[in-house]
Amino acid sequence: MRAIGIETGGDRPRLFDVARPDPAPGEVLVRTLRVGVDGTDHEVIAGDHGSVPADAEYLVLGHEAVGVVEDPTTTAFERGDVVVPMVRRPPPSGTNAYFERAEPDMAPPSDCVERGIDGAHGFMSEYFTSPAPYLVPVPAADAPWGFLAEPISVVEKALDLARASRSAFTWTPETALVLGNGPLGLLAVAVLAPEMDVYCLGRRDRPDPTIDIVESLGATYVDGRQTPVESVPRVHEPADLVVEATGEPRHAVESVDALASNGVAALLGLPGPQDLTVDVGRFHESLVMHNKAVVGSVNAGPTHFHAAVDRLGELPAWFFDRFVSDFVPVDRFEAAFDASIKAAVEFDTV
Ligand code: NDP
Ligand code: ZN
Repeated sequence: MRAIGIETGGDRPRLFDVARPDPAPGEVLVRTLRVGVDGTDHEVIAGDHGSVPADAEYLVLGHEAVGVVEDPTTTAFERGDVVVPMVRRPPPSGTNAYFERAEPDMAPPSDCVERGIDGAHGFMSEYFTSPAPYLVPVPAADAPWGFLAEPISVVEKALDLARASRSAFTWTPETALVLGNGPLGLLAVAVLAPEMDVYCLGRRDRPDPTIDIVESLGATYVDGRQTPVESVPRVHEPADLVVEATGEPRHAVESVDALASNGVAALLGLPGPQDLTVDVGRFHESLVMHNKAVVGSVNAGPTHFHAAVDRLGELPAWFFDRFVSDFVPVDRFEAAFDASIKAAVEFDTV
């Protein structure tokens, strides 16, 4: 079967001919429908993030997938069920407390592998297998956009941690600032806009399709070149919630300036190293005197995947149509790595 992967030392993805996997009892054989491409895939391809499996010379890419159960073996799934796979699995050394508690997203990097990213083959192949507990059922009607459950789950977890950090008192967020108008930022805007006033900060000129999406969702686009993060409270209003999805290191600190009293900043970006001169006294004082919080969040657990699947049924159809700018058949897969907003490789249809 065809699989899309990256060789050790390679600088671009290519097609591999690999054996169709054989599911063991308790595993499910899934026929892949669509697999999304995101910034993490580009980081893996560039060699900045992730690793090939210990016993392999290439990594099958793809961590945002939706497929159809082909063979449920001994599991409770039925042939034809639409499913989304979660990303994290136990490391080669065996399972651990994080996986036993069904909290794989809380495992430190050394205590897990990530399919399609770090140490385990991903889902960009005609079929893949997975143990049943790592598969989340999706209503058949949502199959076309099911691959978005994974990136939405990342947003759901960030919001879950943010809310949890404010659970000791009555927190009624009315204003959110999303940093970044890449795929993750746009999904955060889509999730938050029905609930509160949302500002989305980017660095692009109009006309731009991502700015159009931000405004169509009812949110306000902020050009960070004119209004940097720390100026947003003065020019617009302070934010009860900041969701950072730029990967810009400064934003981890500047988010705190953008917060209203009692607010929380959820950081999602994965920046490289960078030196920065910061008034840490003011940063520290602002956190303490205004009861602010900063939480970092990576990956997502089962509850977040289930919330994301529910969200698929709530977001407007026009959003998916405009957000997923490119569907690419397997024989033209290269184009999926060069999309204007968000792309998916299509392996098959329901
Ligand atoms: P992208 O790189 O596609 O998007 C980042 C967006 O932020 C782009 O639109 C970019 O603008 C904008 N941006 C970057 N720097 C600035 C800046 N200084 N001012 C204003 N806008 C800026 O990434 P994704 O949307 O896929 O993901 C966002 C971040 O989250 C990345 O760092 C990614 O690695 C990380 N990530 C984290 C996950 C987690 O579990 N925590 C999961 C998935 C991703 P432009 O396009 O104009 O350059
Ligand atoms: Zn992703």
